[in-house]
Amino acid sequence: MSILHFPGRSIIPRRIFCIGKNYRDHNQEMGEPESEECVIFMKPVTSLVSEGESLHIPRDKGIVHHEVEVVICIGDSGSSVNSMTACSIIQGISLGLDLTLRSVQTQLKKKGFPWELSKAFDQSAPVGRFIDYDEQLDIHALSFTCSVNGEVRQYGNTKDMIFPPEQLISLISNTWKLLPGDLIFTGTPSGVGPLREGDTITVSSPQIGSFTWKVN
Ligand code: ZN
Repeated sequence: MSILHFPGRSIIPRRIFCIGKNYRDHNQEMGEPESEECVIFMKPVTSLVSEGESLHIPRDKGIVHHEVEVVICIGDSGSSVNSMTACSIIQGISLGLDLTLRSVQTQLKKKGFPWELSKAFDQSAPVGRFIDYDEQLDIHALSFTCSVNGEVRQYGNTKDMIFPPEQLISLISNTWKLLPGDLIFTGTPSGVGPLREGDTITVSSPQIGSFTWKVN
């Protein structure tokens, strides 16, 4: 992926922030204790895969899990953004996949090591086309699904986020000045599962759109 197109504006993706542990049902399926904190990690922009591009997953690194997530594209800059006004710096919304090498991640967690090897590999961040964000779109009630070969595996709704978008923007901008082109993957609901070569994966939302990748 090179450029994100919006009506009247094109933006080059700059950084990819990802949020972990933002839905209770997913924390439960991962056996994580109730937490007051989410996890923040990053992927390089070279992990992005646009719709229509072929998606290759690693073959020799164990299980690859799909995690469907609502993705926010930042349109204005902001540091230490107040959560009351945070949504005003959002340019667009889409759906993406935070692909995860789950067996590798389990080993890294055991050792207390960072997650990059399991999360930030090439093509680990497929993302669909962005729609423009405006106040009409209720960002706290976006429903979305992930299906593999036509079978729905994940159902999510942004109302179930532990840290809603405005809090995530505020939190991230306390450490990094947010800039146009920054993307935020906002966490996954339950139902994560394995992805294999030959699978067709579709992420879909009535409010955002539907995006499909064929896995090679
Ligand atoms: Zn995730």
